[in-house]
Amino acid sequence: MDALSSRMPSDGPGDGDEAYADILVGSPPPATDPYVRLTFGSFRPPGSTHRHAYDEGMHVLVAEDDGSVAAALVSALQRAGHSCTRVARGSDLLLRHHDAHIVLLDLGLEDMDGLDALRRLRAVSQVPVIVVTARGDERSTVKALSLGADDYLVKPVRLHELLARLVAVTRRYTPPDEPMRVLAGSIDIDIEARRVTAGEREVSLTPNEFGILVSLARRAGQIVTRRQVLDEVWGDAYATSSRSFDVHLGQLRQKLPEATITTVRGVGYRFEHRP
Ligand code: CA
Repeated sequence: MDALSSRMPSDGPGDGDEAYADILVGSPPPATDPYVRLTFGSFRPPGSTHRHAYDEGMHVLVAEDDGSVAAALVSALQRAGHSCTRVARGSDLLLRHHDAHIVLLDLGLEDMDGLDALRRLRAVSQVPVIVVTARGDERSTVKALSLGADDYLVKPVRLHELLARLVAVTRRYTPPDEPMRVLAGSIDIDIEARRVTAGEREVSLTPNEFGILVSLARRAGQIVTRRQVLDEVWGDAYATSSRSFDVHLGQLRQKLPEATITTVRGVGYRFEHRP
């Protein structure tokens, strides 16, 4: 429990009934790399989260260890047309962020400081985060913003202001678009059909091997960290499945020798443009 937590003020029924139906977030232009062709579409790979239009309300992940504060937040968000998942632990935030459009983050969580949770989250996700905390000091605010928080609210928060900031923060955010298909040299990765071919040869991959390949290939030419791959494929960036990861990556390299996956020591992996 965070002894400093203030109670949410009750603004009475009817709060937050405004419609938030017409918010659209634009899509980035498709990649223009001549060596890797990415086909974009509506497909969302497993672990991928962000929709482009919030016309059905947002899915809000509330990380708050105080039960009554969490209940007040969830109730207000639901009345405003959003759906919510509530967690009390930072470790659960790191497991549950995948389907969230935005995170409301308390800094005094059950198992870790919210700033640590934010740092870990930002290693794998750009999901919008609003810190909602009793800590009103400048140092905490600056720290949270420098770690990647999009906004910072001090408790007790005004519900209408929170809802307005929620919309403002997500409006500024352009979610990364996900390719449906990646063509690189002789390799054709059809993500939607879960099918990989190299020239005329069909390559049979296990779900984990396929997940690693997609995680790397959809950002061909860029370094992807091990944590990002673990987050996308295993759903847990801080999983202890590192050894298992190496085994699956080794098998992927064997099954698909046409792909060049470069290990950048201490940083991550890069699916090369020109295999
Ligand atoms: Ca707390």
